[in-house]
Amino acid sequence: MSLAENVNIVYVLNIVQEVVVSLVVALAAGALSWTFLEYVFHRFLGHEHRHNPFGAEHTAHHSRGDYFAPWTRKLAAALVLAAGLVPAALLVAGAPGGAFCAGLFAAYGGYEVLHRLEHVHSGFGAYGRWAQRHHFYHHFHDPRMNHGVTSPLWDIVFGTYVRVEGPIRVPARLKMSWLCDPSTDEVWPELASDYLLRMRRDRA
Ligand SMILES: [Zn+2]
Ligand SMILES: [Zn+2]
Repeated sequence: MSLAENVNIVYVLNIVQEVVVSLVVALAAGALSWTFLEYVFHRFLGHEHRHNPFGAEHTAHHSRGDYFAPWTRKLAAALVLAAGLVPAALLVAGAPGGAFCAGLFAAYGGYEVLHRLEHVHSGFGAYGRWAQRHHFYHHFHDPRMNHGVTSPLWDIVFGTYVRVEGPIRVPARLKMSWLCDPSTDEVWPELASDYLLRMRRDRA
């Protein structure tokens, strides 16, 4: 192989490497951006300024425990966001813009799955245990704290992070379907160090 051919191959490989790196970085930036949106939507639209359609759905989620906004509404909201964001990102940044959007919407999908699992499934690894306790602290102890669902990052940045110590006190009327042994209606023994039931009379 001639020197000129070698130089050409190295040149092409360098370009491919640059493209791949830029796509991976854009994908990660999109996912990171979703975690920020997750925090901002939840904290500001879901709680602090909740007189909006998202806030109404989120209030219902808090007050009814097993309620989730209909997936058709979530899909419609995601499509509206995508219709504005994807063309703009492609126009401004080309392929990395598309990768950014892919990362953002993939992370959004991951958030939806994780949030649903937290409420309907017990135990799915160390991360799942952490995510559940972080989220149920928000639900049952202090809704002004722990707004992040997939990560504590933005709670730490904005000073709303609480490291959850000891068991979560779950109001009996809002208990998760997986929390108790149906034959005794008491918290499964293996979960007793993480959760306990709070009866109405315990509030006094
Ligand atoms: Zn929730
Ligand atoms: Zn909330």
